[in-house]
Amino acid sequence: MSKLEQNIIETIQEGMSRRQALKFMALSPVAAGVLASSSASTEAKASDAKGKIVIVGGGAGAIMAMARLRRALSAPDITIIAPNEKHIYQPGQVFVAAGEYAPEDIIGSNLDLIPDDVKWIKDEVSTFDPDNNHVVTRSGEIVKYDFLVVATGLVYHYEAIEGLSIDMIGKNGISSVYLNDLEKGTAQGGEITWKWFNDVKAAAAKGKPRVICTQPATPIKCGGAPQKILYLANDFLKRDGLTADFTFATNGDKLFGVPDVNETLNKVVQPRYGNITNKFKHNLVAIDAEKKIATFETKKLTQGAYDEDLEEYEMIEETIRIPMEYDFIHIVPPMSAPDAVKNSPLAWQKGTAAGWLEVDQETLQHNRYPNVFGIGDVCGIPLGKTGGSARHHGPIMVANLIAQMEKKALTEKFDGYTVCPLKTQYGKIILAEFNYLGAAPSFPLAVGEERWIWWAFDLYMLKPMYWHLMMRGLM
Ligand SMILES: Cc1cc2nc3c(=O)[nH]c(=O)nc-3n(C[C@H](O)[C@H](O)[C@H](O)COP(=O)(O)OP(=O)(O)OC[C@H]3O[C@@H](n4cnc5c(N)ncnc54)[C@H](O)[C@@H]3O)c2cc1C
Repeated sequence: MSKLEQNIIETIQEGMSRRQALKFMALSPVAAGVLASSSASTEAKASDAKGKIVIVGGGAGAIMAMARLRRALSAPDITIIAPNEKHIYQPGQVFVAAGEYAPEDIIGSNLDLIPDDVKWIKDEVSTFDPDNNHVVTRSGEIVKYDFLVVATGLVYHYEAIEGLSIDMIGKNGISSVYLNDLEKGTAQGGEITWKWFNDVKAAAAKGKPRVICTQPATPIKCGGAPQKILYLANDFLKRDGLTADFTFATNGDKLFGVPDVNETLNKVVQPRYGNITNKFKHNLVAIDAEKKIATFETKKLTQGAYDEDLEEYEMIEETIRIPMEYDFIHIVPPMSAPDAVKNSPLAWQKGTAAGWLEVDQETLQHNRYPNVFGIGDVCGIPLGKTGGSARHHGPIMVANLIAQMEKKALTEKFDGYTVCPLKTQYGKIILAEFNYLGAAPSFPLAVGEERWIWWAFDLYMLKPMYWHLMMRGLM
């Protein structure tokens, strides 16, 4: 646990007032900067291991891996392959959607994060060739490595929804907070969704609009974001005494996987709004933007013939399509690993994680190529796809990679940690932290409770901590 984390726990345990907490959080950019510079200058180099390390990606996981490796090796030889000079603080897209951050508040620069002693190839990898220990860039350059870190994140597939294309988002009542272009460093989703909040409010002032929020059938980054938009949009209306008919259409079979969180959502949060209909096992497959009809696929069981041997009726499962009319829709697209990973020998070749990077769920080392490691959303492991997970991957992946370089046993194990700051209303968050075994709170407070302190922590502290500590490998 870092000094800053310990400080936060102690402050909470001492029972600080709201005023004290906000003052503490307002100081956080300064505190984070001071902490970053002091620990950077005092840390000793840990390993004399040698070898050329190539890191592919220029987002949260890649930059954290680079910073940690640079500080842990006495003579680091690191090449980073990433097309993007701009770097988006993606969790902030939700606060832009809620009108709490300006769009420019969440854009940083990799020019400030990637130092001169790291070779930076500003390109994308189009081919991974792990049998020959090299990658090929889009411009055709062959880059050899001794060790490879894959940190490409994931990509969106808006086009997999029949009738939808990216240019339709922001028009005809369609929104998506996720929308961003990591290569260009633009994050349009927050701004579009903030306008959408206001459009829904204007419609609610005249009537009772029908609003659908969706969640797809694939793994997604920040699994709580679809519901963050559902609750924040609802609360945005409620604050002006307005309402709408909200439908949450998700491919899942419950609101949240952690029982305590699921219970609060079912018994406290949704009843407080009283206007949300949940449609479980509903997957958005098509949209007619002109007529404002969204079509979902769901499974239906019908009774078949009686089986004399089993003495029961056969149950036949059929997929049916259900059209729903709407006035406004918030769409979360299906997601996958980028094609370069998906179509390479590095991907799981079959099973539920097919197409994602095949790493061990504890060591983060590739199962078939021991000189390859993964960090962040691209990893095909049971939990994760949050910046919080990537932060926990960082020290484990780096320690194991160095052990591999030193030809030692890999001893560090990732426990599956992930985190969702579930925004249930303006000013309240359930901080859902969990791992492979279940709830895993970092702070001595009950999981599943809405608290104002988590809102303040997320809004004021996490962003400076991201830039000053996490991206510098200090947390
Ligand atoms: C709306 C939203 C809300 C979120 N909320 C939260 C939250 O509250 N808490 C939380 O912890 N997390 C949250 N997240 C998730 C978090 O942002 C991601 O989990 C995190 O950024 C993952 O880091 P990454 O390095 O794996 O991928 P990214 O940060 O997405 O970076 C991927 C990088 O790889 C590059 N790349 C892609 N393909 C290639 C290639 N072929 N060659 C070279 N480079 C390539 C990209 O350009 C990019 O630089 C949220 C995300 C979104 C979009």
